[in-house]
Amino acid sequence: MTLTLEHVVKKYKDFTAVNDLNFSIGKGEIFGLIGQNGAGKTTTFRMILDLQEQTSGNITWDGAPIKKINRDLLGYLPEERGIFPQMKVEEQLVFFGELRGMDRKELKSELDFWIKRFDIEEKRYDKAETLSKGNQQKVQLIASFIHKPKFLILDEPFSGLDPVNRDLLKNAILLLKERGTTILFSSHQMDNVEELCDHLCLLKRGVSLFSGSLLELKKQYGKTKLTIRTD
Ligand code: ATP
Repeated sequence: MTLTLEHVVKKYKDFTAVNDLNFSIGKGEIFGLIGQNGAGKTTTFRMILDLQEQTSGNITWDGAPIKKINRDLLGYLPEERGIFPQMKVEEQLVFFGELRGMDRKELKSELDFWIKRFDIEEKRYDKAETLSKGNQQKVQLIASFIHKPKFLILDEPFSGLDPVNRDLLKNAILLLKERGTTILFSSHQMDNVEELCDHLCLLKRGVSLFSGSLLELKKQYGKTKLTIRTD
């Protein structure tokens, strides 16, 4: 699935949160939307997913508006994380998988795979509320892609994770890409970007400072190591 944004603007009354945003994400790419707090990342995701309407501009999926797209092809980790505190880890992942219509056999095999991969096997039958914040976040991450979406949107997936878990997530993202998933994620820092992104967009107060490949970014900024700040 390809996603295209053309001249997208979002205004809240007189305040412009996103101003003339243009980018395109090709099939199988990892795309980073990078910017400080308030840059407009969450607003952009919400418009892409039709959770709120843009003031002007076009957002299309394979050339069509999202209303024509089967939502089960999409996965989303929102910034406001949601978890059922009283449900056990496995129970809630099964719930999310079944909600997306997965068959039991496939769901079980995905569940086994990701629980192991994210190193939470010991927590499998524990209630979510008893897990550390980092482990809860891993459950939420798995829930966002357990149904094997074609296009996955992750809002600040690295925030709140320690370095070991950030590495686990980085590897998971690369594995999802290998499986053919297109991934759009946001981050307020450049960490991980170099290893992960094919393309990226740097946002500052709703305005795109740069959009393109890492190579183009490095050429533009004349650096071999990315230390660009968007604040
Ligand atoms: P953060 O990580 O802090 O959420 P962000 O890049 O995701 O940053 P957004 O949440 O998209 O930023 O917010 C962009 C700007 O739009 C901010 O200045 C925010 O205060 C403003 N904003 C977001 N939602 C609303 C709203 N419903 N009404 C008015 N202003 C809003």
